[in-house]
Amino acid sequence: MESPAGLPVMRFVAVLAAFGALAAPAPAADGPLTLAEAAAMPYAPVVMVVDTVSSLGPLAAEPQAVTLADLVRYHGHPCDGLLVAAAGIAEGLKRLFPDGVVDRTDLVAAVNRSACYGDAAAYLTGARSRYGSLVIDPSLGDEWIVGRRSTGWSVRVILRAGFKPPELGGMERELRAAACPAALIAAVQGLQRRFALAVLAVPPDRAFEVRPLPGFPYPTGEARPDTAKRACGRVSADQPRRPAPRGNE
Ligand SMILES: [Zn+2]
Repeated sequence: MESPAGLPVMRFVAVLAAFGALAAPAPAADGPLTLAEAAAMPYAPVVMVVDTVSSLGPLAAEPQAVTLADLVRYHGHPCDGLLVAAAGIAEGLKRLFPDGVVDRTDLVAAVNRSACYGDAAAYLTGARSRYGSLVIDPSLGDEWIVGRRSTGWSVRVILRAGFKPPELGGMERELRAAACPAALIAAVQGLQRRFALAVLAVPPDRAFEVRPLPGFPYPTGEARPDTAKRACGRVSADQPRRPAPRGNE
């Protein structure tokens, strides 16, 4: 079976094979979350993506894997926001790309004002605020909307209740308003760490609700101009496929 882009079918990889046999580390100690412990969690997302081979070039024949390590290098630190958003967006992208390869030239996304959510969305989807394809909607909560231009499919991915510690938001606000209170910094780090590891410890359909949408609920901006020749050499690559994605509510 081949994907519409003529690519070999590759499934989303929920677990890095190298880590798959390892038990998830128990979050015994507090302190900042580390990339090593996050990447070793049973449901750390690895997203297979495809991009153009060059600016104004066609889509690549082979996908590449985006891991948490890639995201952390881009974002600057491993944090609960980045990792939880990555896991949620990856779950949404599975619905838009049932063949398992995410075309980063074909996506729009919406997130709230969180820098961590925005970076995860931009990296995993290729959407960019400069072209209006990465929408910042401050009214969104712990949820991420992704849409696929060529099919019109969109989904809203919502973090389920029970994962985010209810006291976390208040403690983060308190810390922002303070100077450098070491004890509070440590307490917030511990809470953020336990939150992120709890999400990555369970199958994504337990952590996230995915709701199909009738369409992307914002203007979609313009496609990235460097991907204008993405379809060159392909046949009917952008034909919509049905049925539309299913939710898991
Ligand atoms: Zn962050």
